[in-house]
Amino acid sequence: MKFKNFPIYRIEWVTSIFLIGTALLSLTVVPWFLWTQYHLPVDAVNKVHGWGFVWALFIFYYYATGFGITLGYHRLFSHLSFKAKWPVKLFVLLFGAASFENSAHDWSADHRIHHKHVDEDEDPYDISKGFFYAHIGWLLFRLKPPTPVNNVKDLEADPLVMWQHRYVQWIGAFVGFVMPAVLGYGFAVFNGYTNPGMTALAAFLIAGLLRTVVVQQGTFCINSLCHMIGRQPYSTSHSARDSGAVALLTFGEGYHNYHHEFQHDYRNGVKAWQFDPTKWIIWTLSKLGLTEDLRRVPDTRIMAAELKEKSLTLGRDIDSLAARLDARTRELKAKTIAAAHELAKELATRAESLKEAAATKAEVGHETLSELRGLLNQAANYLETLRRADAGSAA
Ligand SMILES: [Zn+2]
Ligand SMILES: [Zn+2]
Repeated sequence: MKFKNFPIYRIEWVTSIFLIGTALLSLTVVPWFLWTQYHLPVDAVNKVHGWGFVWALFIFYYYATGFGITLGYHRLFSHLSFKAKWPVKLFVLLFGAASFENSAHDWSADHRIHHKHVDEDEDPYDISKGFFYAHIGWLLFRLKPPTPVNNVKDLEADPLVMWQHRYVQWIGAFVGFVMPAVLGYGFAVFNGYTNPGMTALAAFLIAGLLRTVVVQQGTFCINSLCHMIGRQPYSTSHSARDSGAVALLTFGEGYHNYHHEFQHDYRNGVKAWQFDPTKWIIWTLSKLGLTEDLRRVPDTRIMAAELKEKSLTLGRDIDSLAARLDARTRELKAKTIAAAHELAKELATRAESLKEAAATKAEVGHETLSELRGLLNQAANYLETLRRADAGSAA
């Protein structure tokens, strides 16, 4: 977007001042406070006592508000990927509000449009408008007037969700800012510290202010980095990507290519080794009877998607690699090229029959799945061989 076209009349002033203000304070006041505290003599009146408690509170709030968004706003309310008992709902609504990302109602409305119109103009955080826009720009200024909200009727029937929607700013301010200060104060009084106000201030700055900014920037990455960095094993028909590194920043939401293919699955990191703490918590809560009806896409459908995608990319990549090889290398590698094309066809056929099996809920054995996993590895090998030959023929 050109700067002269900057839509000043579309600036969301309250949101912008809050987001930019909290970020600036976290970058200035918080380090300054930590620095001066560090250099104060131990017996100074203004010295904060109870730093261990303050940082423990930061960690608790970091996870509680982060999961409020990923487990609550995202997987529970936007996608209905599992059912939750009221204590879980109440927790994610309280701490979701304290992450200052709007109400669950409005967040879900935006997010459902995002899935329906991903990468299109209607997508509220459309990545084709650039990293900045998808990350935070869409909140700072609205390019278009808001569309009427009509895709969250199910949530509107939930009194707890609507209660949070009505009072979200108050709940956020109380749970997110006032409560850390009160807890810090209480802890200092309980331990007989001379100046409990200073512990309250530290708790407010660290577990309130700084934590808000850290969680916001992390969860905003779901809309930006998750559509830019990583692999696309399940589909290249949209920009969403799988990245373990981004999963670390986003409480497990980094496996976004899978998520856009199978949005009703409560898992984003579907493989056992993938880092998805949100999934682990939903599963643990189900063992405690606090969540139920966890929705999982059957392995056969997941495998069918992987095979189909691999068949498409293998065909495409082999053609472009083969075209780049010099005549002699191409002759030497003719067998590999032909075999890779055969394999691409084979993968497409296997994807179709798996899809049919999934539709009729027919049993597909573990041996078949691991055989197919072998075919995927074979495809990777062919590509690797030709890439090496390409590098050799270019040299
Ligand atoms: Zn997305
Ligand atoms: Zn989603």
